[in-house]
Amino acid sequence: MRLYAQKRGLTLEEFKKSRKHRRSSEELKIKLACRNCDALLNDATWWPSCRKRRNYICITCMSLNAATSQNKHRDKRAAHAKIYRVTNELKMKTYATSYRKGIKIEALAIIGGKCVHCEETRIEFLTAGHKNNDGAEWLRLSGVKRHGGTTYNWIIRNTDLANMIFQVECWNYNCSKQYGREVDLTKPRPHRKNAEGHSNPEYLKYNHQYWRAKCLDHYGWACMCCDDADSKHLTLGHPNKDGGRHRKMIGEGTSKFRRLCKSGFNTPFKIETQCYNCNMGAAVNAGICPHKIKDSLLTAPFVPQAP
Ligand SMILES: [Zn+2]
Ligand SMILES: [Zn+2]
Ligand SMILES: [Zn+2]
Ligand SMILES: [Zn+2]
Repeated sequence: MRLYAQKRGLTLEEFKKSRKHRRSSEELKIKLACRNCDALLNDATWWPSCRKRRNYICITCMSLNAATSQNKHRDKRAAHAKIYRVTNELKMKTYATSYRKGIKIEALAIIGGKCVHCEETRIEFLTAGHKNNDGAEWLRLSGVKRHGGTTYNWIIRNTDLANMIFQVECWNYNCSKQYGREVDLTKPRPHRKNAEGHSNPEYLKYNHQYWRAKCLDHYGWACMCCDDADSKHLTLGHPNKDGGRHRKMIGEGTSKFRRLCKSGFNTPFKIETQCYNCNMGAAVNAGICPHKIKDSLLTAPFVPQAP
């Protein structure tokens, strides 16, 4: 400080006074200007965080600088992220699984914890079902883009509302309510178009169940894992975990059943009858049904971890 005083030709006391004066003066504070654009710095144009670090730059210049630097290093950052994703694939996968597991356990505990139909408690076999069967409408109204993790997060955030809308259901019960399971296939097939000339939803349901029944006639009417023989619970599963690839080839929904039948069940993929519990349970358990493992990863007590 003595050196600074000497440089300015002041005594130490005078110098101290001048510094104090500079710091506390409201006038000088008003005169402060942005080092980029000379705009006056006041409460409206200056961020408190900038003030703390004595960074004499206005809000506009600050955000401009940030945007420029982001653009400048965009490719570099993207490349870095890409390398990170490739080299830490397992780490990211493990984290995503444990995160999804955590919010699922938390959300299902909020809305009951066990299946309302059969009292199943293994978390792999459970899901959040809509009490009034209005899942599609709820998705549209709530702003949640898709089912799954986002729904569980919504339940955790809106506990009271969630208890009115959702209940815990096993996959078997949840899926037995789905697309035309109540259709009676012994009755004749409804007309493709209804009286107004629009496509007839009854026809679509009947058609779906018709081709599904044809497939189950071929693959058997009982789950290969747990021998569940309730016709409403059954679907086709891929024990070799290649269902995604197969669906890309033959489509989803009615189309997948119809095209499988039309091809005479001639396919390189291994397919077997599964109930929805075993099918969805295997999907979240690395392809192995939790029935086949005594203490599966998900059934073990899980402690949610902070990210
Ligand atoms: Zn500025
Ligand atoms: Zn159930
Ligand atoms: Zn089963
Ligand atoms: Zn099973």
